[in-house]
Amino acid sequence: MDYQKIIKEVSREVDPLKCKGIVADYIPELAKVPKDKFGIYMLTLDQEEYCTGDCHEKFSIQSISKVFMLALAVSKGKESVYKRVGVEPSGDPFNSLVQLEYEKGIPRNPFINAGALVITDILLSQYKDARAEFLNYLNRLVGQEDLKYNRKIAASEKACGYKNAAMVNLMKSFGNIENDVDEVLDLYFDFCSVDMTCHELAKAFRVFANHGTGVIDEEQYLTESQYKRITAIMQTCGFYDEAGEFAFQVGLPGKSGVGGGIAAILPNEYSIVVWSPGLNEKGNSLAGMKALELFTTKTETSIF
Ligand code: GLN
Repeated sequence: MDYQKIIKEVSREVDPLKCKGIVADYIPELAKVPKDKFGIYMLTLDQEEYCTGDCHEKFSIQSISKVFMLALAVSKGKESVYKRVGVEPSGDPFNSLVQLEYEKGIPRNPFINAGALVITDILLSQYKDARAEFLNYLNRLVGQEDLKYNRKIAASEKACGYKNAAMVNLMKSFGNIENDVDEVLDLYFDFCSVDMTCHELAKAFRVFANHGTGVIDEEQYLTESQYKRITAIMQTCGFYDEAGEFAFQVGLPGKSGVGGGIAAILPNEYSIVVWSPGLNEKGNSLAGMKALELFTTKTETSIF
């Protein structure tokens, strides 16, 4: 299969969509990112790599970090994590508050904001220095040492993070947040602010394609059961209220972020990351989603 040719072809075919969509302007710093950026990086478990466009340019990973947060939390805390956060798709926007009240402060899943805020609280309780621990984990997954939090992005989100603040407070009132609400929020904004390239994210996601074992360092980051569960949640909840549509069109477990990135995997085969900042009305990358649909259709690779 000539993956490189297909990736180039896909990139050309989504040209008309590249400047469409809306950049996430509710985080003022993200509104500054040029909409015409586009990159794809694909890595196979046999170390083959294929790429195109702005795939070596850093972007804000935002909600894609929720997968790493969950992975770190379950690898330390084991299954008790799932007592405080569910595993059902929400069918609601990523920052919705409606279910939280009638479900008594237990978020539907770890990949919507409320769920990731609970995971942040769990990490704060699990580690003396959760901020450093998370970055160290991410660096190990990628195989480098220079990933950082983007202070500007985190501060920009904090300045307007009213809905996230409302969620933590509501969950605290139900007893599902142990730590100080401001500490949880600050750490959550930092977790979302990490800048990575498509290449770096594809390297990090390879661990999920490889059943939880590092491809280069062969370290077992997740047990088989932890891997199975995280991948299942990516499949059912990775795209908020568009998870069904993503499964229908693309057919890979994955996770998106409002920075315009989408990271996905085909278990036992590859990881693939697309970046295009223009978002659709659900907050998922418009050209990114189309590119992945074309890619899995042309290569006839999906989990189905
Ligand atoms: N940091 C963003 C927020 O909390 C992440 C949302 C996303 O990427 N969907 O709103």
